[in-house]
Amino acid sequence: MSKGTLFDKVWDLHTVGILPSGQTQLFIGLHLIHEVTSPQAFAMLRERGLKVLYPQRTVATVDHIVPTENQARPFADRLAEEMIQALEKSCKDWGIRFYNIGSGSQGIVHVIAPEQGLTQPGMTVACGDSHTSTHGAFGAIAFGIGTSQVRDVLASQTLALDKLKVRKIEVNGSLPPGVYAKDIILHVIRTLGVKGGVGYAYEYAGTTFEQMSMEERMTVCNMSIEGGARCGYINPDRVTFAYLKGRDFAPQGADWERAVAWWKSIRTDKDAIYDHVVTFDASEIEPTVTWGITPGQGIGINDAIPTADTLPQSERAIAEEAYRYMHLTPGMPIKGTKIDVCFIGSCTNGRISDLREAAKFAKGRHVAEGVKAFVVPGSETVKQQAEAEGLEKIFLEAGFEWREPGCSMCLAMNPDKLQGSQISASSSNRNFKGRQGSSTGRTLLMSPAMVVAAAVKGEVADVRELL
Ligand code: SF4
Repeated sequence: MSKGTLFDKVWDLHTVGILPSGQTQLFIGLHLIHEVTSPQAFAMLRERGLKVLYPQRTVATVDHIVPTENQARPFADRLAEEMIQALEKSCKDWGIRFYNIGSGSQGIVHVIAPEQGLTQPGMTVACGDSHTSTHGAFGAIAFGIGTSQVRDVLASQTLALDKLKVRKIEVNGSLPPGVYAKDIILHVIRTLGVKGGVGYAYEYAGTTFEQMSMEERMTVCNMSIEGGARCGYINPDRVTFAYLKGRDFAPQGADWERAVAWWKSIRTDKDAIYDHVVTFDASEIEPTVTWGITPGQGIGINDAIPTADTLPQSERAIAEEAYRYMHLTPGMPIKGTKIDVCFIGSCTNGRISDLREAAKFAKGRHVAEGVKAFVVPGSETVKQQAEAEGLEKIFLEAGFEWREPGCSMCLAMNPDKLQGSQISASSSNRNFKGRQGSSTGRTLLMSPAMVVAAAVKGEVADVRELL
């Protein structure tokens, strides 16, 4: 059993009690909601005559269903319009802060909460979206939850959860040029497996994460869930504090000093005991691309798609399924695979630093003939900042489309969808069958810089060749 980790400390501090089931009733400091998983939860609340217990701890935005080309209301998609109207009504009825379209702060839920300074170290965070693990970048314990749990948090501000074990994932060394936070986490998932983290919280430690910006740390923690870990976190440090200082919801004045002292106190102790430890060397990690139908089916850009006989027995059936679905030949290099669509965005890689890095490679180049490429900023704030820095102009000149903020083709619950069996180079986090809106569409996950390399070459390419 782990001892002295940030996870243990935050868990204990938020424990309300132990339920007869043996589960912990955990207090949730921040509840983030959006239009997809909240309507039913609100309906259940109304049916039972319950109220939102702590509206001031609940924050809403709209992201999954918003169109990224024309956001004029009412939306052309009637269902999407109904969903946003339902959220608008619930937020009004219950007095919940709502970052709506045009507020200047709307965007993907996991992008806007950190931007506003809502996500802070030592918090427990919940949201009806798997990638809530993102907020662990701040040293928070953050869980993705289902609709009935959204109801529970709305009504009681608590969740019934089983305590997790803690695995330390230590990565040391500087990132080589062309290798990014996305490559690190794809490499970790590839090595430990998509179910390797089941029952665990992942603590990311080591010099590689210490040197990362908060936005890079968010990319890493975001994908913890793809490795099976319910949450992932990084101990708060001066990088965390510098990011938070001055943000709308960050403590001010004397409260700030008190908060920093407390945030330091919840860091993992030097002599902490973990349930499991794995180590990696960053210098050995290459730009990584997925070739299959799970985020664990990834390879270095210069590797060949693995043949079934080189894989452990447990991975062969899913590999066979992936060969059939992806129409990619085992034994062939991934590099050179023709691409139809290039998508830069999502809560994994739709932040300003992602767009800056992508623009560096797009500048002075052009999207290859026949490739559709588009950039979807993660929030209105990111969009404004990118436009102020001239990034929009760089993308447009390079032949990318420049869109309005939202989840877009990460999940394709809006009009941004793959057609038929198109192949997409995507900076998002899931390559499941049909994830990007076509039941036969194919997704290759990679870093935003690698997406640009694919866009300009028209095929999977090594971004290091563009350096
Ligand atoms: S960008 Fe994708 S993963 Fe992130 S919140 Fe939206 S749909 Fe979920």
